[in-house]
Amino acid sequence: MDCIFCAIAKGEIPSKIAYEDEHVFAFYDIAPQAPVHVLVIPKVHISSVDALDESTSELIARVMLAIPKVAKAAGLTNGYRVISNVGEDGCQSVKHLHFHILGGKKLPETMA
Ligand code: 5GP
Ligand code: ZN
Repeated sequence: MDCIFCAIAKGEIPSKIAYEDEHVFAFYDIAPQAPVHVLVIPKVHISSVDALDESTSELIARVMLAIPKVAKAAGLTNGYRVISNVGEDGCQSVKHLHFHILGGKKLPETMA
């Protein structure tokens, strides 16, 4: 399988790392949409939120618990936004589950 985020999590494609532990990897987005824009991913390949089920519940908890750590490490002391795009209508371009953390300024209220 050819997955760019699997390759990033393995260090095969370089990235600016924001956080890493046994199960979770976080790196700065290559095309930031806010002053701080970090992507948080599980190291194992899961295609999107839509693929989550009971078998991935422990892993997704680890990913979610990493988010406040990533935010703190990225200096987001005044709040931030967490987004996960899913599938065609969600405009998901990379088919490896990821959560965008956006912040560093007051973000617009509406997204859609
Ligand atoms: P999506 O549109 O799937 O929700 O978000 C994919 C995100 O991955 C986009 O914000 C895009 O800029 C980012 N991205 C795509 N390829 C790379 C890459 O090679 N390195 C990094 N750091 N980010 C990437
Ligand atoms: Zn992958």
